[in-house]
Amino acid sequence: MKLHALAIAAHPDDAELGCGGTLLRIASEGRLTGILDLTHGEMGTRGTAESRAAEAAEAARILNLAVRANAGLPDGGILNLPEQRLKVIQYIRQYQPNLVLCNAPYDRHPDHGNAAILVREACFLSGLRKVETFDGEGNPQEPWRPAHLYNYIQDHWFTPSFVVDITSWHEEKLAAVRAFGTQFYNPALKDQPETYISKPTFLQHIEARARELGHMVGVTFGEGFISDRPLLMNL
Ligand SMILES: [Zn+2]
Repeated sequence: MKLHALAIAAHPDDAELGCGGTLLRIASEGRLTGILDLTHGEMGTRGTAESRAAEAAEAARILNLAVRANAGLPDGGILNLPEQRLKVIQYIRQYQPNLVLCNAPYDRHPDHGNAAILVREACFLSGLRKVETFDGEGNPQEPWRPAHLYNYIQDHWFTPSFVVDITSWHEEKLAAVRAFGTQFYNPALKDQPETYISKPTFLQHIEARARELGHMVGVTFGEGFISDRPLLMNL
């Protein structure tokens, strides 16, 4: 299946938080979107790999994703290693996205910055014919290099290279985030240990961030992205 946009995320919920509104916006235009979670989030303090898989499936439904896959890399152990790169390249060649959105270049969780490095190198190497990979049936895959690669903003603040207006999709984005019921504020789970992201102020921060990014470009809610090269403007 060929996708227009593939969001690649170290952990299930990273993509929802960082670019969920943008994925909804692209899908609303009839273009196919997907998420590749690199790990199952099995090292998370709350919930289990199984509960997060069920939550990820519900969030995928809310986001109208055409596909959601999991690379099965070790949570807390994402590194730019040849075997991890080849796994990511297999998915890039399988879905042939025009646009890849991936984790922030540097962040509170070390997996995020490491995933950004891993995905950037995988996107480049995926375009090289002599890097050999095979699909699930053992057939050699064709090279594919995404035309666009941008990082979404996560915990640490970055000045965005551009902002996407997600005003019409902000509520659905929050619904997709709340689908991860074990991870974020949930009064029904008072007996579970509190984490950095399970406090009620975390979701308030997500809304504040979207308002700030929207304000920068004159809309109500936005998501910001970082580009490592100048963007072409047709004025
Ligand atoms: Zn994460």
